[in-house]
Amino acid sequence: MTFTNFARATGAALALTTLGTAAMAQEVNIYSSRHYDSDDALYSKFTEETGITVNRIEGKADELIARLKAEGENSPADVFITVDIGRMGRAEEAGVLQAVDSDVIENAVPAHLRDPENMWFGVSQRARIIFYAKDRVDNPPRTYEALADEDMKGKICIRSSKNIYNQSLLASIIEANGEEAAKDWAEGIVANMARDPEGGDTDQLRGLVSGECDIAVANHYYFLRGFDSDVDGLTSGIDNIGWVWPNQSDRGAHLNLAAAGMVQGAPNPDAAKTFLEFLTSEFAQQHFANQNNEYPAVPGIGLDEDTARLGFFIADNETMTASFGENAGKAQKIFNEVGWK
Ligand code: FE
Repeated sequence: MTFTNFARATGAALALTTLGTAAMAQEVNIYSSRHYDSDDALYSKFTEETGITVNRIEGKADELIARLKAEGENSPADVFITVDIGRMGRAEEAGVLQAVDSDVIENAVPAHLRDPENMWFGVSQRARIIFYAKDRVDNPPRTYEALADEDMKGKICIRSSKNIYNQSLLASIIEANGEEAAKDWAEGIVANMARDPEGGDTDQLRGLVSGECDIAVANHYYFLRGFDSDVDGLTSGIDNIGWVWPNQSDRGAHLNLAAAGMVQGAPNPDAAKTFLEFLTSEFAQQHFANQNNEYPAVPGIGLDEDTARLGFFIADNETMTASFGENAGKAQKIFNEVGWK
């Protein structure tokens, strides 16, 4: 062995030892309201790449926020993940998040999908769009605003205002059209409901199949699930359901976000930052989005076949997603005033 080679060999051995020690010590603790079994593959890929162990606690978003508040400084949590920006707004308001300054995240995720103070960023996008029964509706509404028109009376199925998806939708309408117009809109929707709000998004789509409603509002992936698997009361009639990407000639369709942020007082801030940056990688973006037929938050990432089924659309890139959380209080007030159950 020449001296150079010897030095190289020793150097390599030393590097390996250091990495091994670091790998044993490092971990990241995630509180997540997103739970898919196959997310295991995402987390093990991260561990494989970085040597950082991932520990997860899963639960409902509001319960996790309450837990983070209660644990305070003693919380083991490093990262918080939720599937709606309204809830991320609640976490921010509760003071359980801290800003992360990362060029990697800033370069990958467009500004309107990030918190202006870097408390969180979008990981994947979910569209809330208009569906209709093709055999009963020739000219479906092309905008969210048109859902409130008089000719829609008795036709629309949409879930309760207690649901965060509608809270975020109304918050975005407040941001786009102002509070007064948003109230008129909500009033119009209540007047046009085919029935009192009941069930989840899948139940609104089922109403199209059963004939109870002609128009339904739902997140896009509930519809796609009807193709992927046999969804009772939906799959059998899915060929008669058409979809509209709303507001394509003005601001674009309303998209909500699954998002992630760092917890205030995170015991492993470096590992947490590494994990958050990993979420913007092509592998993580594809995994995270494809798992639920969502749209990646990072531009240029390919869609899986099932998601691509809904075609091209213009997303609302003007309305800051952060406004969904900021306008949540105003939205709740409007829901109460117009009697949207
Ligand atoms: Fe959902």
